[in-house]
Amino acid sequence: MSASPVNSAVLSFKDARYVVEQQAALVTMPGAEPVDLLAAAGRVLTEPVLADRDLPPFPRSTRDGYAVRSADLSALPATLEVIGEIKAGETLDRLPANIGSGQCAAIMTGAPLPAGADAVVMVEHSSQHGKQVEITRGVAPGENVVPRGAEAQQGCVLIDRGQRLTEAALALAASVGKSRLQVYPRPRVAVLTTGDEIVNVDAAPGPTQIRNSNSYSLAAQILRAGGQPVLLPVAPDEPQALRQLIELGLKSDLLLMTGGVSMGRYDLVEQVLSEMQAEFFFTGAKIQPGRPVVFGKCGADTHVSEKPATYFFGLPGNPVSTMVTFELFARPMLEALAGQSSRKLTFLYVRLKSEIRVKTGLTRFLPAILSGEFENSAVELVAWQGSGDIAATARANCYAVIPPDCEKIAAGEWVAVMMR
Ligand code: AMP
Ligand code: MG
Repeated sequence: MSASPVNSAVLSFKDARYVVEQQAALVTMPGAEPVDLLAAAGRVLTEPVLADRDLPPFPRSTRDGYAVRSADLSALPATLEVIGEIKAGETLDRLPANIGSGQCAAIMTGAPLPAGADAVVMVEHSSQHGKQVEITRGVAPGENVVPRGAEAQQGCVLIDRGQRLTEAALALAASVGKSRLQVYPRPRVAVLTTGDEIVNVDAAPGPTQIRNSNSYSLAAQILRAGGQPVLLPVAPDEPQALRQLIELGLKSDLLLMTGGVSMGRYDLVEQVLSEMQAEFFFTGAKIQPGRPVVFGKCGADTHVSEKPATYFFGLPGNPVSTMVTFELFARPMLEALAGQSSRKLTFLYVRLKSEIRVKTGLTRFLPAILSGEFENSAVELVAWQGSGDIAATARANCYAVIPPDCEKIAAGEWVAVMMR
């Protein structure tokens, strides 16, 4: 029984990633649901959040000190008359009408600058005695003041649709009074693990059986990427039963399968999907771990075709391969289905602790530990037994990324790192 698909294509890592990004750009997810601001963290906006007024709405002091006319401080020290005190939230009618020449007002951080003043001197550079203050340092016009509308003008887009709501975005939405936000529904991601040797986590495994771990790593990754995992029963290495479960999985917004995509005699996933008239975009990527990764799309049901074809990934069954190929390929598709605007895969660069030697030809994503502190941060590969070694990967906190043309990276050189 051969498992090779009709049109097999093994791409370089970058080409495979571009293929996923191109497909992800075609995705449109309908629907929106209103959520409370507190529940919106990590969700994706369906509509932009606009500034309901200028930000800041008044010229805002950024310091505790004195609101002054900067020209009054050309000769130092300068003594000014203190004509009032302005605290944050002071109403406009209680501000001094105008700061005249030789005058100033005590002002607090976050308070509005009164008319006539054009800068704020920090309290640290002053000493007040009664109504007089001696100032020992000059200021440029505008210093320690954020002009009205300098952060954003009324009506402008503060957070665009397709943006995932970070803590900063939530704060911004709160600052313009959005107590409820419209967000995309979370896409449902079916997880189908395959293999006659795989048993459920609470079953007692026979001596050569393996507990299903991939469904759990994938579920965690799906949740983190904004999806809803739907765990299907484990599929046996038998075409009929496998096909039924694949058909079930294709009813979700995305189908992730693990196992059964390598060259083994019982690797049936591609064969079954070929029989179902699936379209394959690639059937391998020149990476380690995860080389046999498969990407395509397939109609949920060949008889009833109201639902558009569902994208699927066949992720290799080795647990580290499953985790890595999710991050590299499934994540951008899932993010697109979650309504999120596309973002490029970026790496950090860190000093390497000890030399890496590899063969050329594959882009490698090797479990590694980023450690040290501050400017002494450095990364080191974890000793592992290959892509089945979950224990090594659980000790790691990142992947070191080795480009395909690289044979050796010496200790102390910069190496790309993909965070987990
Ligand atoms: P396969 O990709 O089906 O050839 O599987 C590769 C390796 O991954 C084999 O050692 C499998 O036993 C193991 N494996 C496959 N699926 C899982 C799973 N869900 N959980 C843990 N290990 C798995
Ligand atoms: Mg298998």
